[in-house]
Amino acid sequence: MSNPPPGENGPMPFVGWIDALPLPAAVIRPSARGDFHVHASNAAFDRLEPSPVGGSAPVALRRAVEQAARHPEERREFSCRIGVGGAVRDLHGTIGLLPMESGGDALFLLTLADRTQQIATERSLRRELVSDNLTGLPNRAGFTEMLERRAATEGDGDHAILLLDLARFSRINEHIGPAAGDELIVAVARRLTSRLRGGDILARTGGDEFAVSTRLTGGKADLRAIARRLRGGFGHPFHIGALTVSVDCALGGALQSSAGTAAADLVRHAQIALKRAKRTGHIEIHGPETERPSGNRFGMETELRSAIEGGRLRLEFQPLIELATGRVAGFEALARWTDSKGRSVPPAEFIPVAEDSGLIVPLGQWAIGEAAATLADWDRQNGGERVDCHISVNVSAIQLVRDDAAAAVRAALTAHEIGGERLMIELTESAVIGDPDRAMAVLQELKAMKARVAMDDFGTGYSNLAHLQRLPIDALKIDQGFVEHMVDDRDKVAIVRTIQSLAEALGLSTTAEGVETIEQARLLSALGCDFGQGFLFARPMDAAAAFDYWRQSRVRPIF
Ligand code: C2E
Ligand code: MG
Ligand code: MG
Repeated sequence: MSNPPPGENGPMPFVGWIDALPLPAAVIRPSARGDFHVHASNAAFDRLEPSPVGGSAPVALRRAVEQAARHPEERREFSCRIGVGGAVRDLHGTIGLLPMESGGDALFLLTLADRTQQIATERSLRRELVSDNLTGLPNRAGFTEMLERRAATEGDGDHAILLLDLARFSRINEHIGPAAGDELIVAVARRLTSRLRGGDILARTGGDEFAVSTRLTGGKADLRAIARRLRGGFGHPFHIGALTVSVDCALGGALQSSAGTAAADLVRHAQIALKRAKRTGHIEIHGPETERPSGNRFGMETELRSAIEGGRLRLEFQPLIELATGRVAGFEALARWTDSKGRSVPPAEFIPVAEDSGLIVPLGQWAIGEAAATLADWDRQNGGERVDCHISVNVSAIQLVRDDAAAAVRAALTAHEIGGERLMIELTESAVIGDPDRAMAVLQELKAMKARVAMDDFGTGYSNLAHLQRLPIDALKIDQGFVEHMVDDRDKVAIVRTIQSLAEALGLSTTAEGVETIEQARLLSALGCDFGQGFLFARPMDAAAAFDYWRQSRVRPIF
């Protein structure tokens, strides 16, 4: 349908452009009761089956039309389904007033994007992302998601979790072979399930790690009783084919110590207890006594503060390689600290201390500034010509919430006269989940400066796909946990494939972390992964070595 003849309600404006719109669209004039006349529509709109107009118009659409007629100046968005029989379509609609000459009736542009495929893909991705292929139990992401849901819906109470780790599982696995190892895991899952109480939830949170979420009536003693019951399941051996295998496990647990303990804290406490259990061989329940920071930690905080103030932190740079071309696309900046005793302290130790003490704010600002300064310096060394790679900087969840990270980026760009497109900010999922609105605001500001954003360690946290889709991010970094052993682990390949298709559906690029072998790089490239980072290409290095590396790569591609 193109332009109709002039209507009874005055001359029609020219709306032939509607044919050029890439999605189903119509120019409509609302009438009473949410009905509307279609004045013009494009072929995509006419093809919608069944037609969203007339008797089969969905309620959400009618309501949106009604409201548009009442408040024409406000743009409306809505979701609806149309369908007959098995053919149901999920549509995302918008209604907006068309600017027009005075005198005529108000006309609106209605667009209906077909999201059926996307929603179906998302649903199946979601299912895959939250459950474990082997046992069908929730995986770590599913478990975390479920904990969050429990916290939100059930309010406070004696909620507790137990973590269970099979003893010497990798040795057993080596001995009986991976297929029998898989069977053993399934048998363990079954035995654990039979020992749960109603309402308990069992998940497989790692290769040989299980987690149980439970509600207690009798406090710590109750939790111990449950743990003993689970451990009792290991009292007799498992029969896998012709094999008889004896397995033991370590069990650590944690109770929600006060109302509003975050799920993440509960998990962390249980992990501390589990670690202790592996050492002692007993069931360990986390108590407040283990929460007190040790003297060592305070000492580290003081030293770290003086290192930041004294400018004694350094950045190292690890290249990000485009897998299709072997070109250096950029570098990730990683903080390095050598303490007063000459020990090189790994970031995994000092970043948490910085986060707990607030030092992460000056540390993060320093890293952003240093990255911009390095780019400016590389440009100078390159004879004033812009070096065609970016630097990725890690920004902690805590910094995102406490500090104006966008302002820090802006200041660094201005100070070093660097374009925003040359910086990429790496955030972890927790940054976004903790405070989605705040994250959204910061990300939008970063976008306005043309800086890019990557989701770091993707797949390890709990991935809220709805947020992911809403957030203006550019890239996913596939956690090295999935890349490790992927060459001979079908489950890991399946996860990487899922993340890859998720990224493609959302128009994001992917970077695989921890690429150590050429086989991994080839497999990742075949799966469609865009970039790789890891010891195969290079270890993190200082700025001068990184600049050399980039220069060399222009003569001879890395991969
Ligand atoms: P990340 O952002 O995921 O960084 C990647 C980590 O993987 C780095 O560890 C890197 O050295 C390591 N890595 C790279 N390739 C390989 C490989 O092939 N095999 C293995 N096994 N590891 C590889 P690093 O430097 O120890 O940093 C650890 C974490 O500390 C980072 O993880 C990041 O979350 C945090 N971090 C580092 N620098 C900063 C910083 O300036 N600010 C903030 N907020 N966090 C930082
Ligand atoms: Mg990172
Ligand atoms: Mg990472």
